[in-house]
Amino acid sequence: MTVPEPQFDELYREVILDHARRPRNRGVLAEANCRAEGMNPVCGDEVALDLLVEDGRIAAIRFHGQGCSISVASVSLLTERLAGRPVAEAQQVMAAFKAMLMEGATPGRELGDLEALQGVAKFPVRVKCALLCWNVLQEGLQQCQTAA
Ligand code: ZN
Repeated sequence: MTVPEPQFDELYREVILDHARRPRNRGVLAEANCRAEGMNPVCGDEVALDLLVEDGRIAAIRFHGQGCSISVASVSLLTERLAGRPVAEAQQVMAAFKAMLMEGATPGRELGDLEALQGVAKFPVRVKCALLCWNVLQEGLQQCQTAA
């Protein structure tokens, strides 16, 4: 089943299209010490994250999978925002991103370019696309913490 792409201009801001067409940090991370994956059956999006977590920091991150432009842009922006950042910061960004999409919270500076996805909040079906990779990240970070 395929969900049609939304027709609203504000959803297609330049940054979203750019990341959807040329996703950053795509690939497999051979040295990853935790991995997680998930899917959004409503849209058919699939995301897997490879994480290398060292000394409480996301030393490296890659994603693979496929999906609609919103899901790909979200995971690409996620990897760009969080690569090299402390896990604690990742948790804060994740909470802020979810608040923006699920509660309509005003994005703070911590989101950086992720703010471009704010318009998705108006489209509940697409919120699942944008949140997929964040739920996968949450699972991946839990695995890392369990392993540590
Ligand atoms: Zn999707």
